Order: sequence, then structure tokens, then C-alpha cells
Amino acid sequence: MALIVQKFGGTSVGSPERIKNVAARVAKFLTQGHQLVVVVSAISGETNRLLALAKEVQPEPDPRELDVVLATGEQVTIGLLCMALLERGIKARSYNGAQVRILTDGAHTKARILKIDEERMRADLAAGTVVVVAGFQGVDADGNITTLGRGGSDTTGVALAAALKADECQIYTDVDGVYTTDPRIVPEARRLESVTFEEMLEMASLGSKVLQIRSVEFAGKYKVRLRVLSSFQDEGEGEGTLITFEDDAKMEQAVISGIAFNRDEAKITVMRVPDRPGIAYAILGPIGEANIDVDMIIQNAGVDGMTDFSFTVHRNEYQKALDVLNKQVKGHIKASDIRGDPKICKVSMVGVGMRTHAGIASRMFRTLSEEGINIQMISTSEIKISVVIDEKYMELAVRALHKAFELDQPA
Ligand code: ADP
Ligand code: ASP
Ligand code: MG
Repeated sequence: MALIVQKFGGTSVGSPERIKNVAARVAKFLTQGHQLVVVVSAISGETNRLLALAKEVQPEPDPRELDVVLATGEQVTIGLLCMALLERGIKARSYNGAQVRILTDGAHTKARILKIDEERMRADLAAGTVVVVAGFQGVDADGNITTLGRGGSDTTGVALAAALKADECQIYTDVDGVYTTDPRIVPEARRLESVTFEEMLEMASLGSKVLQIRSVEFAGKYKVRLRVLSSFQDEGEGEGTLITFEDDAKMEQAVISGIAFNRDEAKITVMRVPDRPGIAYAILGPIGEANIDVDMIIQNAGVDGMTDFSFTVHRNEYQKALDVLNKQVKGHIKASDIRGDPKICKVSMVGVGMRTHAGIASRMFRTLSEEGINIQMISTSEIKISVVIDEKYMELAVRALHKAFELDQPA
């Protein structure tokens, strides 16, 4: 007998029929003698609908009230799934985040989980009841409803698995595992049998939304056995992708595991600033004070004592960042101009094998040059190389790299 946490995403609970399918899957696991905690997302499209609704009423929604609205999506699906289970004669109880008591900090719309009370869930499980928990939400110490950021139900699933010391956390979605890249962009993408935790962390942080990055962080911190599977396949049909913690000799030993991309960033360049100590701080200090996160940063070699300084921010914060620079920075450091481009994309190649293989970067750059794609920015770490390019070449770049690195071929 195992304790399993299963998380079902939006499309997996997208209709009454799909919800009944989830109940049928749960029933099969129960007959095998397992204990189950099930986390569900809102019906696909619902969180977007609620967000749009909020913005119609208040263009910049109050964060506390926005969370009150957004959290309703998951409350619907926990109730519906319990009904589907009860209808099959299975004992089940639903809990929203506050009822479990998933305690978070108070950072509305991007709250972090601090603590999970497990007693209630344990009592239900001991009584043979399936516990159904709303993903994506929690409650802060003052009793305010919070949400965990888009894709946050993954994190609820993994955090519950960590708190309950579950044997496995299964993330059911609309693809049958983690692929070499998003299969919607590259049909030749291949499912990975396993991917290391480090690679998954990079892929998630670089834009592969199959798992929310915080869920991967949780899995790493608490060594949760994590698997991504399809809810559209019958149980036992596919093994999905296992996130592993050790290099295993049996594992695929590709140099590159995957390609991630992200269209959520914008580039800003501060033109012709004096090339002297303190300039990076003079530019990025006010950006940080305005709570704007910066990703890539580039400062060019100085010419005649002057240089250009570029960085990227989230597209949602692009205008805010430009305003800060124009109001607080431009005159102060006597920059000649502030330029921006929100239509960029970041394409990244990820693989632990890069540590021991040279020449990956040059092959990547050659591939892009052969396609006539200009690289605007580059950043590297031990296990990834990222480039910023014009957004309109994103699909071309990802496909060309996927082919050049033979990711469609079995490792
Ligand atoms: P859910 O609603 O189940 O949480 P998401 O839409 O959040 O599902 O995540 C699944 C989607 O992630 C897939 O449909 C796929 O388009 C996308 N995706 C991006 N990168 C990858 C990848 N490397 N492997 C698999 N899926 C990916
Ligand atoms: N419903 C939330 C969202 O759409 C959380 C999730 O699906 O994981 O972002
Ligand atoms: Mg998701």
C-alpha cells in the first residue's frame, strides 16, 4: 500500500466527462490498495476568465480581492470531483486551501507555502476517505485567501506530497510526460523517460510550463518522488517522466535534455552611459526598489568612456521599468536614450551533459546563424545556454536547434 498524491490540471478536469474519468482513475488506484490525496486545478480557461472579469471591474485589481476571485475556480472542481467519487460509492471529502490549512505568506497572487496541517488529511486517509484538495491556494496568518501564482496547483501537489511524506507525487496533464521541448511547437519532440531534478529546475525556470518552478524546488528540497503523466491515457499505459535525483547509469545520457523558451520578457537598453563604477547600481537600484525582477544583464565594452547597458524584465513590468528609468535614472546618469523592445524571446538549451562537453554554445550559435537569426543577448551557466532573439523567430529557432542537436533521436 502506498500513499500517492495525484494532481490533475485544467484540461484533465475540463468537463464533467473528464472529471468522471479522473474519478475512475482514482477508483482504480484505490482497488490496488493505495491511499490517495487528489489535488485539482480549475477547469481549463477558468482562471483566465476570472482574471479578465476582475480586470473589467478594476483594471489593476486589488491583490487581496483578486485572490478571493481567482481561488473560486479550484473550489468548483474539488466539489465536482468529490461528487463524481461519491457517485461511484467512494468516500471522498473536499477541502479548499484554508480548510486544509495550507499556510502561506501574505504575498497575494504569488504566495509561498510556509506550512501544511496534515492531521485532518491523515484522519480521512485512515478512515479510507479520498482527500480532494484545491490547488493554487492557501491562507495567510491573518486568514486572507492567497494564491500561489499561475500553474500553482503543481506546487500544491508536491507540497502536500512532501508534508505527508507520500510515496509518489503524480502530475497528470494533457501531455504524457516531459518532452525534449514543447510538443505543441515541435511535433518531433520526444518524451524523456527521466530528467534530472537540476535539468527540470532549469527547464521550468526558463519557460517550460509543464511544471511550475516552485513545485520542482519543493521536490528537490524534500526529495519528493515526482512523475509527470497523461490523464488522457489509461492507467498503466504510460510511464510518463520521472524526475530523478541521482545520475543513474541506466538513464539517458544525452548532452542536451531539452529546449525551453519564454516569450514573457522584454529588453531595455540604457544608451551611452558613463563607463564608471556605480553605473549598474544607479540603473538597477531603482528598478529593484520598484520590485521589478531583472533577468539577463549585459554591459558592453566601453568606448570613449561610455557604454550601453541592457537587461530584461517580465513583459508585465516593462512599462513600469521604462517609467522608473525615464523618471529616476536617465537624467541622473545622463544617459543619451532609453530604448526598449517587448517583442523578444529567450530560447535556452538545458543539459547536465554540458558540464563535460565543450562546443555546445558554438554549435548553438552556428545553427542560429545558418537560419539568419540574430542573437541579441547571451547568458550561460554550467548546464544551460540562453539567447535572446526577435520573438518572430522563436519557433524557427526552437525547431532548428531541436534538429541540429538531434533531440528527435533516441539518446
Ligand atoms: P496543466 O493544466 O495540466 O497544468 P499546463 O498547460 O500547465 O497543464 O502544462 C502542460 C503543457 O506544458 C503542455 O500541454 C505543453 O504544451 C507544455 N509544455 C511546455 N514545455 C513542455 C515540455 N518540455 N514537455 C512537455 N510539455 C511542455
Ligand atoms: N488554475 C491556476 C492557473 O490556471 C493554477 C493551475 O492550473 O495550476 O494558473
Ligand atoms: Mg500547469
